[in-house]
Amino acid sequence: MRVVSVPMRTRFRGITVREVALLPGAAGWGEWSPFLEYPPEVAEPWLRCAEEAAAGDWPAPVRGRVPVNVTVPAVDPERAREIVLAGGCRTAKVKVAEPGQSLSDEIARLEAVRDALDAGGPGGRIRVDANGGWSVDAAVAAIGRLDRAAGGLEYVEQPVATVEELALVRRRVGVPIAADESIRRAEDPYRVRELEAADIAVLKVQPLGGVRACLEIAERIGLPVVASSALETSVGIAAGVALAAALPELPYACGLATVQLLTADVVDAPLLPVDGALPVARPQVVDASLDALAADPERVAYWEARLAAVREVRAVRATRAVRKDQGP
Ligand SMILES: [Mg+2]
Repeated sequence: MRVVSVPMRTRFRGITVREVALLPGAAGWGEWSPFLEYPPEVAEPWLRCAEEAAAGDWPAPVRGRVPVNVTVPAVDPERAREIVLAGGCRTAKVKVAEPGQSLSDEIARLEAVRDALDAGGPGGRIRVDANGGWSVDAAVAAIGRLDRAAGGLEYVEQPVATVEELALVRRRVGVPIAADESIRRAEDPYRVRELEAADIAVLKVQPLGGVRACLEIAERIGLPVVASSALETSVGIAAGVALAAALPELPYACGLATVQLLTADVVDAPLLPVDGALPVARPQVVDASLDALAADPERVAYWEARLAAVREVRAVRATRAVRKDQGP
């Protein structure tokens, strides 16, 4: 295992440094980078994704490039404009409903993003992600105002926390609703379909257990899919790209351009957008980059202990499954 520590350009998701473990396998490196607060049970599917990548067990692609959105954190309007102009994408995803931010901050941010997109020509799309931060009534009120500020929103991602609330909001607004946390953190991802709670499914390969697991969810959930990242290096992003490349249809830009949020990467050709799309490719890890970004030994020890804890969770589950098989 190698552990790298990559400083971020902007504080995002409350972190300023992204710590990532890389696991070797027959086909190359797999990224295992569950966020530090996640317990072993939650980090387990993330490990399955890394193992699938290291084994090279990805389905064949049906396209050669994947359109992506630029991600705009909860920053001021001037910084938002710079990020969109530098991103080179025709779709922007803007974070909203962050603690400490007002609706007028968000309106100003969306207006700046619209301006910056329009500078590149007509047809730019804006989506927002609230990470479940609103109540139902606050979501309905905010979505109307943000839709106007953006000159039309493509969709709103996870405006409220629960799938039941998502269904309520969806019935009260005209903007399409995307489900993210309601799929990847749910006991049952298919509740979204049963309650008709969303128009779009956001799928992330690490929390959902890998590329093939996501393809199966995509097929069963019956919604258009947006493949999205969990702030990985290009090693992890390549798995998200493998999902996006294998989906039968890809009507929306994917949230896979997040290497832009990191100050460094571990590969020869980082998965950064060119003309608003990522190439379907698996870049090669560079040993010198692993050395340059290597985390401190105590952090490596932390990740090794974490890996052992996840394997322990698996062993306990396997024992339970055997007991169940054998009956009382
Ligand atoms: Mg999201």
